[in-house]
Amino acid sequence: MIQKELRQLIEDIPKAEVHYHIDSVPPHLLLRFAERNKVKLPFDTLEGAKEYYKFKDLDEFLEVLQLTCSVIQTEEDYYEIALDSGREAKQQNIIYREAMFTYANDSHQGRGVAFETLMDGFSAGRKAVKEQYGVDLRFIAELDRTQSFERNMAAAKMYLEHKERFPLVAIGYDYAEMGYPACRHEEVFRYIKEHGMDRTAHCGEEVGPESVWESIRCQDVYRLDHGVRSIEEEKLIDYLVGKEMLLTVCPISNVLVGAYPSIQEHPVHDLMKRGVKVCLNSDDPAFFGLNLIDNFIQVADVFELTEADVIGLVRNALLYNFSGQEHLETIDNWLRSHNKEQYI
Ligand SMILES: [Zn+2]
Repeated sequence: MIQKELRQLIEDIPKAEVHYHIDSVPPHLLLRFAERNKVKLPFDTLEGAKEYYKFKDLDEFLEVLQLTCSVIQTEEDYYEIALDSGREAKQQNIIYREAMFTYANDSHQGRGVAFETLMDGFSAGRKAVKEQYGVDLRFIAELDRTQSFERNMAAAKMYLEHKERFPLVAIGYDYAEMGYPACRHEEVFRYIKEHGMDRTAHCGEEVGPESVWESIRCQDVYRLDHGVRSIEEEKLIDYLVGKEMLLTVCPISNVLVGAYPSIQEHPVHDLMKRGVKVCLNSDDPAFFGLNLIDNFIQVADVFELTEADVIGLVRNALLYNFSGQEHLETIDNWLRSHNKEQYI
């Protein structure tokens, strides 16, 4: 059982979340948008929506994601999604969030939504989130692994054109890992790098170390989203430790999509013990119904984390994110004012 003091620390400490999909719409927004945009859904109550959000594996999850994305249509919808994300972040004392979205597939672009619609809605939402909640919301535009080279190259060019106006902090890589090796898009990622944009990739979740090596080799990523199956190869772990490469780990998400049978069997603690830089994240809280604090509490409980472990996980997300260490001072000041400066 997690100690009361540790639970309080997890709740109160200013946090960052850098692996969070903002286009996974929470059920209450889904119903509102469906009504406003006259989209017929296979359910019409909050309970019905929650039931529909239950899935058995990553593929089924991606199917649900496609349907839920179909209700997002106007600039106002995107604005409200961002605003809701800020409100929810504030409740958890999250001060900085890197929010991912995947535009260039059937989720948004394929439905005929203009990139400007998404971008203007999210940008206005980001501004309101800063003003109303004091949360710094940044965006990572994702490329879909399963798409063709041509489509991803076109998407990368479009993202890069809008990088200042948005603002984007990185381009990421997402969707079904099995059967879609990262090196298919090597040239796209070289182009992104040449244009001065940071890169990250989902890998090492469905597929083992070879997929992580591909993202390192062919995408020259700064960090790894998930990357948890790196634990299966000693040499890879040594590499990650040596490079201080961050793994944005999402334990509850991994268990819910069936990558691991339980938190007990999840490698997050082994990765920490091996010295890999790890931070915790919720991934798709709208679907999983569990947020960043829930991830901290479950991991702390199962692996009997210490105060130092928890603070280390929190600081990693502020040390190795895509905005430099802009928000590190906030948490370090908080630690000083709570007599915990020994962890700085
Ligand atoms: Zn993810």
